[in-house]
Amino acid sequence: MNTTCTHLDQIKTHGKRTEGCEECEALGQGWVHLRLCLTCGHVGCCDDSEGKHATAHFKASNHALMKSIEPGESWGWCFVDKVMFQRL
Ligand SMILES: [Zn+2]
Ligand SMILES: [Zn+2]
Ligand SMILES: [Zn+2]
Repeated sequence: MNTTCTHLDQIKTHGKRTEGCEECEALGQGWVHLRLCLTCGHVGCCDDSEGKHATAHFKASNHALMKSIEPGESWGWCFVDKVMFQRL
């Protein structure tokens, strides 16, 4: 298992494209937690949510890095290397 991430150059933004999960808002459904794609600013819901749209976004786009945008949380995650960051 890798312990380092080689995708840090994919970080292009910390800006959110939407306030809530983009797909859930379109479907009119709720979510548990929100994750932000650091490459394109896509906001998706976590794997505890019905939609799992953050993971779905990674599968569709190959954007490897996301971070939590829950209040008080700043950790990040690389979907490819399965590495957790304390701060991203
Ligand atoms: Zn990585
Ligand atoms: Zn969602
Ligand atoms: Zn993205």
